[in-house]
This record gives sequence, structure tokens and C-alpha cells, in this order.
Amino acid sequence: MIRLDHVSKTFANTTTPAVDRVSLQVPEGEICVLLGPSGCGKTTTMKMVNRLIEPSSGEIFIDGRNTAETDVVQLRRSIGYVIQQIGLFPNKTVEDNICIVPDLLGWDRRKSRARAAELLDMVALDPGAFLHRYPKELSGGQQQRIGVLRAIAADPPVLLMDEPFGAIDPINRVIIQDEFLKMQAKIRKTILFVSHDIDEAVKMADRIAIFRDGKLVQYDTPDTILAHPANNFVSDFVGGDRTLKRLQLLTVRDAMMEEPPRVRAADSLQDAAKTMEAHGHQAIVLVGPRGRARGYVTLQAARGASGSVAENHESLPTTIQPHEDLRTAVSTMFRHDVSWLACVDGDGMFVGYVTLRGITRMLSETYREG
Ligand code: ADP
Repeated sequence: MIRLDHVSKTFANTTTPAVDRVSLQVPEGEICVLLGPSGCGKTTTMKMVNRLIEPSSGEIFIDGRNTAETDVVQLRRSIGYVIQQIGLFPNKTVEDNICIVPDLLGWDRRKSRARAAELLDMVALDPGAFLHRYPKELSGGQQQRIGVLRAIAADPPVLLMDEPFGAIDPINRVIIQDEFLKMQAKIRKTILFVSHDIDEAVKMADRIAIFRDGKLVQYDTPDTILAHPANNFVSDFVGGDRTLKRLQLLTVRDAMMEEPPRVRAADSLQDAAKTMEAHGHQAIVLVGPRGRARGYVTLQAARGASGSVAENHESLPTTIQPHEDLRTAVSTMFRHDVSWLACVDGDGMFVGYVTLRGITRMLSETYREG
């Protein structure tokens, strides 16, 4: 756990503090993204944690230990540090770069080399191919991955990441972010992450700390920041499309109507129409004998028609799974020009409906809560 308690920094020969009485706690295993415009004090705040910058006042604790009372060399070795410039040693191999801190800590060589291979595996880089390469033989994205592995090689509980993916092209940045989140799900480090990119923050953060002129103006989960920005500064900063951004954080399951009405092939169209009318629905899904989504019937087609559903149904343009995010759901609806989707589980079993109206209603309800 990282805890900042009324931490301030005023640089020499300046009058206004670069960081002004910031207090925040990052629970163990969470990612806190420090976010805000350039010059708002994010990097200074982060660098005070490993004492690259000494606070003017206030205290910082890591797992309950006051960092001011910890030997600075020991402190830095217990904190992984990833920077945008990567800073790999050009004359060392990938293996030796990853092992820098374990070597400094005097780990057994065999143990640290085995660890390097294991870490490469974790980011899908073949140890056989990469361990003995030099940094200049790697792409920028690969170098950044090695930078991250180096920071976690000695298994420090805390990681500081200073715009770690800022220099990587947008396509590879998304890949590395996803990879990093997968890795974090396994290693559960407590992380302070500096970014000026709201999309990156929404994606990476368990909590976002928004700074303005050295002050912490809001510290909340991404969804709360997007749904309930604390003031105009925050709402301007997160952008006019904050509702669309929220869709990425919510899943189909959050908006899905469960235990939905359905029809079977042998049912009459009259019964299908009655069921739809009873639920106020314009369409209903046809399921197979074991419950797989097979098609649908519209109220318009069923009303007044005779015969069975088997004779008069349409095929589903597409389906969606409950774990997918709502941005994907809405985008799928737009792509197929429909206002609802049938939700199916991994086996194709029909489990619910998600509708455009249901999604907008859910979003507006959470806005009202605040
Ligand atoms: P951010 O990371 O949010 O862009 P910084 O933490 O780097 O912002 O900087 C916060 C403020 O402190 C800025 O006004 C910056 O100019 C100032 N600052 C940063 N480092 C120093 C320094 N070494 N000496 C004087 N002022 C500094």
C-alpha cells in the first residue's frame, strides 16, 4: 500500500508549490493513474515516492514504512521504475538488462537467469530468441516490454510508471497496455502510473487521481470520475464524450435483461405475438431444443399471422456475449442497424437481451444517483 499524507513540494527559487498538500492512498494490488495537464505536478508527486525528489513537507508511507526513514538505496531497489525513455543499457543483453536489480541484490545467478526467461515468456517473447539480443536489435515496443520486465524482475511490491507507453505508436500501445493488464492480474503490484491521456487512464486505472496546479482535485474510480466529475475542470478534462468512455467500463451483463422471454419453433405466431405484447417487446428470440439462439420473430410479422414460428422467423444478424463491453455492443448495433442484440454464452445459449434503450436508461440512472 502507498500512502501520501499532506505531501507538498516547492522547488528552490520558486514561490508556488509544484505539489500542494496531496493526500491519497493506493490499496495493495491496485493501479492509481495520476492524470492531468502538463505541469500539474504528476511527475513530481511520483518522484517523491522513490525520493528522486525530496518532499518539502508531508510524509509518504509504503506498507506502513515512512520512506523518509528508509535508506534511499534500499528504498529504490524495493520500487520498480518504468520510464518512457526506457533506459536499457545498450551494451548489455536483454537477459543482463532484466537482471540488473537481482544482480545488485546479489541473487544467485542461476535463479535470476531463470527468472528472466520466465518473465519473457509472460509477455510472449520467446526466451530462446530474445535473451541474448541487444536492445538495438529490438523494436521500440519490445524494448518497452523489457523495460517493464526489468522493473519487476526483483519482485518489488511497488511500481512507478512514468508515461511508460507514451512513446509507442497507438496500435502497439494498445497491445502493450492489454499485455500489461494481463500481467498485473497475475503479479498484483501496487502501482502509481503517470499519464496525460484520459483514455489510457480509464483503461488502466483502478483509481484515477486528477491534478490541477499541484492540487489533487478528484480521486475516484474511472466510472465515478466519468459519471460524476467533481467540477468543471474535471468534466472538461475528461471530455464531452465521457458517456461514450463509460461504455468501455461497463459490460453487456450490466445492462442485460435476464431470464428473457423466448419462443420455440413449434409455438404459434399468435402465442409469440401475445408474449411480446405482454412484455412490451417488438421482437422475440427463437431458441432451439437446448436453448441456443436460432433466430427471431418481430411483433409486426407475428401479429395477425397464422402458422408457427418455424415457418416465419428471421435469422439473427449477430449476437453478443455478456462479458463484452457496452461500447462493443453499441458499435455492433450501429454496424447492423439494429436497436437490440441477443446475448449468448460461450456455448451459444440464449441468456438475455441488451437494448439501446436499456443502455441509455442505465447510464442516465447512474447519473441521477450522484
Ligand atoms: P507534470 O508531470 O504534471 O507535467 P511536473 O510534476 O513535472 O508536472 O511539474 C510540476 C511543476 O513543477 C511545473 O510547473 C514544473 O515546471 C515545476 N518543476 C518541475 N521540476 C522542477 C525543478 N526541478 N525545478 C523547478 N521547477 C520544477
